[in-house]
Order: sequence, then structure tokens, then C-alpha cells
Amino acid sequence: MTRTTAPPQTPMMRQYLSFKEQHEDAILFFRMGDFYEMFFADAELASKELGLTLTTRDRAKSSPIPMAGVPHHAADGYIAKLVAKGYRVAVCEQLGDPARSKGLVERGIVEIVTPGTVLNDSLIPDRTNNFVAALVRDGDTIGFAASDIGTGEFFLEDVPRESFSETISQLNISEWLAPRVADNGSNLPAEADQALRRPEWWFERTRGKKELMSHFGVASLRGFDCQDLGPALGAGGALLAYLQEVRGTRLDHLVRVRRLGTRNYMVLDEPTRRNLELTTPLVAGDDAATLLMTLDRTITSPGARRLRAWMERPLVELEKILNRLDAVDELFNRPTETARLRETLKRFKDLERLLGKTAGGKASPRDIRALGEGSALTPELKEVLGVFQAESLKQPAAACPTLAPIGNRILGAVSETAPLSVGDGATFREGWNTDLDELRLRARGGKEWIARLQEKERKKTGIPSLKVGYNKVFGYYIEVTAAHQARVPDHYTRKQTLVNAERYITPELKEEEEKILRAEDELRSLELELFSRLCQEVLTHAEAIQTVAETVAQADVLASLAEVARENNFSRPEISLEPVLTLKESRHPVVESLLPSGEFVPNDLDLDARSRQIGIITGPNMSGKSTFLRQAGLIVIMAQMGSFVPAKKARLGLVDRVFTRVGASDNISQGRSTFMVEMEETATILNAATGNSLVLLDEVGRGTSTYDGLSIAWAVTEHLHTRSQGNPRTLFATHFHELTGLPQILSRAVNLTVEVKEWNGKVIFLRKIRDGTADRSYGIHVAELAGLPPEVVDRAQQVRTRLEASGFMAPGTPARPTVP
Ligand code: ADP
Repeated sequence: MTRTTAPPQTPMMRQYLSFKEQHEDAILFFRMGDFYEMFFADAELASKELGLTLTTRDRAKSSPIPMAGVPHHAADGYIAKLVAKGYRVAVCEQLGDPARSKGLVERGIVEIVTPGTVLNDSLIPDRTNNFVAALVRDGDTIGFAASDIGTGEFFLEDVPRESFSETISQLNISEWLAPRVADNGSNLPAEADQALRRPEWWFERTRGKKELMSHFGVASLRGFDCQDLGPALGAGGALLAYLQEVRGTRLDHLVRVRRLGTRNYMVLDEPTRRNLELTTPLVAGDDAATLLMTLDRTITSPGARRLRAWMERPLVELEKILNRLDAVDELFNRPTETARLRETLKRFKDLERLLGKTAGGKASPRDIRALGEGSALTPELKEVLGVFQAESLKQPAAACPTLAPIGNRILGAVSETAPLSVGDGATFREGWNTDLDELRLRARGGKEWIARLQEKERKKTGIPSLKVGYNKVFGYYIEVTAAHQARVPDHYTRKQTLVNAERYITPELKEEEEKILRAEDELRSLELELFSRLCQEVLTHAEAIQTVAETVAQADVLASLAEVARENNFSRPEISLEPVLTLKESRHPVVESLLPSGEFVPNDLDLDARSRQIGIITGPNMSGKSTFLRQAGLIVIMAQMGSFVPAKKARLGLVDRVFTRVGASDNISQGRSTFMVEMEETATILNAATGNSLVLLDEVGRGTSTYDGLSIAWAVTEHLHTRSQGNPRTLFATHFHELTGLPQILSRAVNLTVEVKEWNGKVIFLRKIRDGTADRSYGIHVAELAGLPPEVVDRAQQVRTRLEASGFMAPGTPARPTVP
């Protein structure tokens, strides 16, 4: 999308270039008749990305202009494809009527579609947020602002530079905005690399503050707890300006701004979220399952989005967690009332997105009807929610506004079978507006007159096959087949000749047709006007509607957590301030749900940073080590998001971060040295873990040679035990049997192992974790089971015995064995 320097050749090309200049960073769809045309670099890009034929437009023959086009009726699909690939598209329409305008048709940009601001239903998944974000740097602080234009959320935060990626990684951001700075942003976080650039003054702090106050209609940002923010105010102002650029003034539904918060949530970095498969499976496939899928029993889209947000950002404050748990507890124990609540919730459509569409001028009559239904339901919502005592249910029930008046007004106005587009006369109910009724009557009356005309003319002319018809080009006509031409009366005027028939009009018919068309025209414009007024009226309730949507979302998530707890036999965890993690008969929620009922073997865990800080888990491959490790992590996350947990009893001390690292193996290699990645990730833990963290290491050290790996694993464990920055609760699953020597020298380390039974020369995994070490490596047994030739198995046994005899390793001093 580089700026083109070709000389404008025609007035139209000059017009094109003037639009292109204003929208350099978008692909310009330039309407010409039935097509949207693209020129120059845009045409080349679009032909590559969309597979369009590249042609040229060549007036002067000397400098052909590359050109590609799409038919206007198919444009939405093409725009969707480009936006999905991260491009921005500016749509330039013909504003004047080409048939009537002399010379150049007036054109204008009517819409800019971008990845982060698109409202098109088919482009944004309704169960996930879609954010556009802005950032600006001030020393070591990054000012950050993000908005989901679809739901009307708007966040601000000053984030320390070093934790920036981590903080925002939990938001689904599809478009970035950054200042155009002299050093080209080399000092900005990597997120800015692909960002759209805007002038630096857009990001200026005092300007931002002013813009924010004026948009949100407040005299100070104190009420939003944003008064004392630094660069975030600049980012916020720039983001607002950008949204205005893209969406014009259609931002009425952005009614409040919120702090993103940096310390109020558990930090889950990218590798941790990936390895724990919170929202995305590690490998796609039929039996791929995530924690989100397992826990999601929400019945509304806002609820689904909220559940995901809670999972991605678990709480760290005791009181807030207890508030949620109390609510889940009460819902869990009052199934009848909960069922009633869910029945009501089910009837709510996605109010957040509907409001976003209304503000964006994209709402259909059906959307407004759905908003009306939701609004009219608010008294019922307050009632079914109001029966609960828990603070997280009772308080929103009381605070939820009643929107019945506007709801009933909409329901009284918009027809039950409201259509998807406005203007065809079917939007509003009969009897709601007398002018509308009258126009409808006139249009309909005319049509009935025409229907009767056929009978009348057949009788008059004696032509039995005479037909009255309509088409877009000629309007109403009377059709007579060739055989009966002789009987056609004189006052019929011929309009069109077909193969077997002639089509006529009469002055009488023409007159009636004009009446109908006039009535339909008036009907259309009156309906459009009334509809737009109704939309404006709805928008005056934007803030209240958003509050209702939030209430619905929160109630839905809490009820969903109660439901899933009941279905899966979860129990309420006890949250403690002591650094413990004690689980009785705990299960892995996702693995359990994939196995036939009763087949998952429950396990206990007992960690305490003060006495049993590090659990070293050994045992054969496939015995259940990784599952156990992840189980602990998932239970902590579930508890701190306010969920019941899959355990008979769980007592856990608040965790500030969960770290999960998995040693590199070949199947995840992607060019970059996987061992390097493994070590970088391990370094993060050693630098960032605190005494309140939970560290889960799965086969760390596997990605390099055995002795290097073993030595690193050894040193890492020692460090976690002795470091001065705090000693995190740790589980380390490893096939390095040598690590079982560590508890001899580290007082807070214990050995855990998976029980294995040998039976008839076969190895049986009991999946039972107990204190102790695996007494031998079962690798060779497993190899035998897998069908390795007996002579290879025998030889392996011999080699192993010799290796062991050569004094493999003394605690603290990894030594090289002699080669057998
Ligand atoms: P490891 O890490 O020891 O190689 P995994 O944790 O990957 O073993 O577990 C191997 C398989 O055993 C998994 O496919 C899982 O479904 C099953 N499994 C793990 N733990 C249990 C359990 N407690 N009960 C039943 N099956 C389990």
C-alpha cells in the first residue's frame, strides 16, 4: 500500500488519488458502477491475496495503471478475507446518482473496516472479545489502552515495560496503534512492530485526558479510578481519535472506561497458558479438549466471553475469590432457583454486541427487537437473581437497572417478525404509527387494484391468457400472447416484445403504478427515519443496557460454574494465606472428562513452601506424571477464578503466578532452537518466581544431551530451593532418576513416584502417586512390551547394569560414567 507517484491522468483518477492519500494504510475499494476497483499497489496486493485477475487501466497507453476489481454484491466476502489477513479496507462509494450526474460522480468514504474494529457478525467469534489497542512509551512505563468496539469495553493502564507482553497477552488484540516516532519505535515493545502509526501528538497525555473526559462526559476521571494514570491517558486519547477516524461519531456505546489492573490478577504467561491448555489445545484433533471447553456451561455469549476472561485472569485477592466462591456455593446448593435463573438468562441475546451494532449504525430491525426483548426482561432478571443471598448475586440484582419502559416501547413498535433490513415496510407493527399504516394501506391498496385488473381486462378483451405482471425495469405491464394480438385494444401502449408475447401499459395502469411506487418510497423513508430515531432513543440507555449485559454475563458464569461443579462432582476449595497446596483425591478435570466414568485414578498432593516445597516426581513414561503436574496447576487456577475444583478436599494458599514449563522435544521444534527456548523459559521462572508462586516443571532439561540436561535440572532445583527471592511451591516431573538424590541434600525437597506393578512380567501403571522413589527404571520393560527384539532388550539390560555399576552420580557432583 505504498503511495503511488504516477501522474493523475483523468479527473476520476485524481479523485481516486485524493482518497488514497487520506487512507494510505488501507486498501481502497473504489466504487465504479457495479464494481469496486482497486488500483496501483492495492490492485497488486488484492490480486495476490484474493486471487483476482490483475488488469490495467490505460488511458494514455504510456503508463498503464494496475487494476483489479470485485463485483459490488460480493464485496463483503472479499473485505472479510482481507480483514482476516490483517489488512484494513476503506470503502469509497458513489454518493451521487451516476445516471444523473454530469461529469464526475461525487464519491465519499463510507466505511473503514479494520481487524480490530470490525462489527460484521461473521468476522468476529461471538464467544471471544476482539480488541484494538494503542500503546505509547514513557521511560520504563508503557501507556496502554484497548477497546472492544463490539461490546463497548474500554481499558486503560500504565504497565511496567518488563511485564508488558505478559499483561496484555491475555487480551485478544487484533490491531495495534502506536506513535510515529523519529527512531521508528525501536524503543517500543515488539507489539508495536506491526502497528499502525499515527502522529506523536495524538498520544500526548494532557490532550488524551481532555479527550477522554469529554467523550465519557465527566469532569474528572477519578470515578473511573483513572485520574492518576500517566502515559495510558495519551494512549487512551489516541485510541479514541482512531476510533473516531474509523467509525465516525458512532461511539455512543463506549460509556465507561476501566483500569486493566496489573497486580490484581494471577499472571499466566504464554508458555503456561499453552502447556496447561487453558483455552487452546496443544494439538488440534477430535479428542482435543481445553479447560475452557470442560468448564463452559454458559448459555449466553457475554457469559462465555466473561468465563474466558476469568480463566485467563484468575484473582489474587482473598476477599474477591471468596465472593465468587460464595456465589457458586449458593447456586450449587439451590438447584431449583438456579435452573430458574438460567431459564431467564437463556432468553437474553448478546446485549453488548447488539448495542455495539446499534451505535455503529449497523443494527437491523431484528437486532433492535432483540434488544427490546432483553430490556423488557430486566424486571424478571432482577427477581430471579434477587432471591440469592451471596454478595456477587445480590448486589448486581439490586444495582441492575430496570429497562422495562424502553423494552416495552420497542416491543410495541417493532414487529415480532422483524426483518434483517429496514425499509421494506415490515419493520414496525400495524397500528403503531398512523402515517406508516396509511402508506402501507396505499401501497397495498394499489397492489390489490392491480390484482383485480387482470380479471377485469380478461373480461373486457375476451383474452383468457391475459396476464398482469411486474418487473424492475419496466414496472407493471399487461402481457398478451402472440395468438391474441388482434384483440388488443387501442388504448394499450406496447412496451416490450418477447418471443411469444407482447407487453403493454395503459394510462390507467401507469397512474396506479406511480401511486404504488410513491407510497412505497414514502413508506421506505418514513420507516428509515422512525427506525433511526428509535435507535437513537435506545442509545440514550446505552450505559444501563451495558450494566444489564454485565449482570447477565456474571450471573451466567457463576451459574455455569455451579452447574459444572454439580455435573462433575467438584467441591469447594479452601483458600488459605499459608503457602500450601494440599489436595485429597484430586483429578485432572479435562483428562477425567475424556475417560470413561470412574477410570481416572484420583491422587493426593501435599506441598508446603515451608516444609515440603519441592516434589520430584519420577516414574516411567506414560505413567501419569505430566497429568498430575498439570492437574495441580489447573486446580489452583480454577480455585482462584472462583470455581469449585475436582478434588474431595483442597486447601490452597494464594498463588501469584503459575509457571508451567515443558522440556523441549523434537515434535515441537519449529526452526528456533527448542532447547534455547526451553532455557529462556526456565530463566524467566528463576528470575520472576516468588515465594507465592507455583512452579511446574515437566522434563525440563530434556532438550539437550543427557549430562547437560541432568546437570541443569539439578542446578535449577537447587536454586529454587535456596534462592533468596522466595521459594515457590514446585513440582518437577523428570525421567532423570538421579534427581531422586536431591532430597538428601535439600531439606524441603521430597521424592514422589507413580506406583507401578509388575505382573506376569508385564508392567502395569497404577497412576497412583505416593512419596518415595521409583525403585528402577521401567523404560526397558516398556521397550519390551512395545515389541523390541529380545536380543536388543537383553543387551539394553546389560548396558544398563554396567552404567549403574560405574557410579553414575553422587549427589551434587554429576560425573561422567565410563563407557561400557
Ligand atoms: P507421563 O508424563 O508419566 O509420561 P502422562 O501424564 O502423559 O504420563 O499420562 C499418560 C496417560 O495416562 C495419559 O494419556 C492419561 O490419559 C493417562 N493418565 C494419566 N494420569 C491418569 C490417572 N490419574 N488416571 C487415569 N489415567 C491417567
